[in-house]
Amino acid sequence: MSFVAEFNSLPLAELAKKSLSGTAAAARAAAGKSKINLADFAALISPGGGEILETLGHRSRQITQQRFGKVIRLFAPLYLSNECVNNCSYCGFSRDNPILRVTLSLDEVRREAAELKKQGFRNILLVAGEHPKFVSNNYLRDCVAALHAECPGVSLEVGPMEAEEYRPLVAAGAEGLIVYQETYDRAVYAEMHTAGPKRNFDWRLETPERAYAAGFRRLGISPLYGLADWRYEALSLAAHADYLLRHCWKAAINIGLPRLRPCAGEFEPLTHITDREFVQLICALRLTFPDVSITLSTRENPRLRDGLIPLGITNMSAGARTEPGGYTGAGREKIHQTVRGRVVELDAAAGERAPVANRPTNATGQFNIGDERTPVEVAERIRQLGYEPVWKDWDAALTTLTA
Ligand code: SF4
Repeated sequence: MSFVAEFNSLPLAELAKKSLSGTAAAARAAAGKSKINLADFAALISPGGGEILETLGHRSRQITQQRFGKVIRLFAPLYLSNECVNNCSYCGFSRDNPILRVTLSLDEVRREAAELKKQGFRNILLVAGEHPKFVSNNYLRDCVAALHAECPGVSLEVGPMEAEEYRPLVAAGAEGLIVYQETYDRAVYAEMHTAGPKRNFDWRLETPERAYAAGFRRLGISPLYGLADWRYEALSLAAHADYLLRHCWKAAINIGLPRLRPCAGEFEPLTHITDREFVQLICALRLTFPDVSITLSTRENPRLRDGLIPLGITNMSAGARTEPGGYTGAGREKIHQTVRGRVVELDAAAGERAPVANRPTNATGQFNIGDERTPVEVAERIRQLGYEPVWKDWDAALTTLTA
């Protein structure tokens, strides 16, 4: 049975509703259990759970240190392309947004990766919008192959594919695949995805399973907080993680925590999760899934990021740019607009924007960054907090030796 079938059969909306009246006593009882089920998780994320946040934080910190030690794995996103055939109301790259676009050539991708390597990164997440014309499967394979020799940890966040299409990417050296469901609420999903292949909710939901079948050994999932009720999203995420841990047990499961940020198109979040609730959610996830890695991106501000380091986070991005060419200015001379899949030169494009001075690139980013510190500054802060920043923790050669 795929996760879609399990997801359809679970009383997630009911649990989310019940969670709203959860008491501190129920949350305390749930926190004391060695195996936490979905009903317990609902108690942990309830308002009652919020009343015992200190207890949850203490337990979360303890478990994280036991399972992962005092380390934070650092990575950087490398945007390959901001072309996209989808219209996602909350994303700056949506096809109908008249933004400045570019797809990096292989050499330009190498330049960006070399800059990240110089900064210390050995874990790179390749990100691209979904546009088969600009971002073909062969292009992605070549990007992975070009980077893999230099950088042992290459993961992907790209449009979903068939398992057969994923296999060459794994063979080229990609170890991880991130696919955020955006929202587990079918009605909101339909409302947010108005055009393009991404409209297919079930196809996206089954993507981690196809990726696992193709051989990916790190699978990242998450909703995008700010679209639907956060408790419903969290419960769905917990159900999804639980399914993957049972069915894709050779893979390391990673949970992301993206909250909506301002972007082109000026979409306003539809729902809100407070910082305090965000902390509660992280603790609840850690207590429920002691062994999953949890990623915090630069969407959040430095103060909150620093405060969350001891509370359950294991992975962080740093110094991130969300536009292709953001680290070196690569691809700047090719920047254009795209209308119905056709490249339109800037001087002919309606709404042309003048180049911005003193910036390495003028391609439009996916969203605004909340933590603008350099990787060195982030690493230094991690050390000050008593943790070790880890730039590389995986090498495919070790897998071969231990297989
Ligand atoms: S969220 Fe992804 S698929 Fe949707 S518009 Fe942005 S890049 Fe394209």
